[in-house]
Amino acid sequence: MTLTQPITTSIAGPTGVSRLFAAGASDFRSHRAVFGPMPGAVDEGHLLAELEASGLAGRGGAAFPTWRKLVAVRDASSGGTRAGRAGSGAGTGRRGSATRGGPVVIANGAEGEPLSRKDETLLAGAPHLVIDGLLLAATSVRASDVVLYAPTRSLEHVSRAIAERTDAERIRLVTAPETFLSGEASAVVSAVGGGRAIPRDRIARLSESGLGGAPTLVQNVETLAHLALLARFGATWFRSRGTDEDPGTRLVSVSGDVPSPRVYEVAAGMPLLDPLVSAGARPPGIGAVLVGGYHGAWVPGTAVATPLSPSGLRPFGAAPGAGILMVLGPHRCGLDASAEIVEYLAGQSAKQCGPCANGLPRLADVLRRLARRDRAEWLPAEIERLARVVAGRGSCHHPDGTARLVLSTLTVFADDVQAHLQGRCEVRR
Ligand code: SF4
Repeated sequence: MTLTQPITTSIAGPTGVSRLFAAGASDFRSHRAVFGPMPGAVDEGHLLAELEASGLAGRGGAAFPTWRKLVAVRDASSGGTRAGRAGSGAGTGRRGSATRGGPVVIANGAEGEPLSRKDETLLAGAPHLVIDGLLLAATSVRASDVVLYAPTRSLEHVSRAIAERTDAERIRLVTAPETFLSGEASAVVSAVGGGRAIPRDRIARLSESGLGGAPTLVQNVETLAHLALLARFGATWFRSRGTDEDPGTRLVSVSGDVPSPRVYEVAAGMPLLDPLVSAGARPPGIGAVLVGGYHGAWVPGTAVATPLSPSGLRPFGAAPGAGILMVLGPHRCGLDASAEIVEYLAGQSAKQCGPCANGLPRLADVLRRLARRDRAEWLPAEIERLARVVAGRGSCHHPDGTARLVLSTLTVFADDVQAHLQGRCEVRR
């Protein structure tokens, strides 16, 4: 990989791990004083090359390479041929690639996930970085429509930030409902188009045919904030934190049985334990950690030295995702915790597809029975069977994510499963 030169070098990039909040305040003056002006007259090819060299992956959960999403939308709008290969994930159900307008860029600040606070924290503390990144992405694909989609309380911060500057008037603000699936890419496009914030089928790629049939880029707000820094300080600076495999920093939301739940910015690839210690948790007070949120997987408390990286977490079926870490104390029941989550997830879909209409409610029911000390020996096998049946059968990844959590629960809490079946579970509910 060849690293290119930074686009601007007039101000040095932050040297510590705290990059996104380095301005120390959310106002435009503080932002400009620390980060300098947004790069003017950005060469689109140079920005994309820098982005590719940086290795920045999406921070919304799917970790798709950011440069590929931009290239896919740019190429689709110019009639190029690479878009189909680069892709951008889920589609809206509109067949074909005929477009009715220029490209659309949507900053996605709808976390949906109850355990995530990072995007809300970012939009409150560093809205100008997100706005910069959104405008840069829009420029790079020559977007004709630029949208920031987030819950009401976040949009209040963004509105104030837009009023402080003269270059952001073109950004349309769209309110995201606070539902689990409102941040799924095709649900975002549906909501921005005036429909319900529910996922659509995956027949067409958003990069080819999204909002109003136009090539559409949906990018998480944290990803855009990193893009704004990259455009200023370059790929080499970006890679000065994190690992080769997972460069840069990321925001993590730490919650659960910890004294100080909050959002931290950490170097990618550091031990899982580091942000947990920052939140006041220490072994042996960590029974397990749910990594990646309600669609994530459990890591046992004995493995908290594991790097928060794709390869480090892979043996547990987990991934850094959107940076969600929920601690389960050693005296809490993992089966109870998982059953509560699966029950919530089963109620969050619009039940458009079979796995959500039938499979998830049944899965929630049998897991609840096991968690509540029903000693029917067939329960674990039935839970596993249902999880494997629903996975990969929906129009979006909701059943897959739910199945991941359930299978991880059976693995990590295997001793608890036996304890429940034998009536010897003494863990507090
Ligand atoms: S899989 Fe479930 S959540 Fe996804 S679109 Fe179908 S019904 Fe909705």
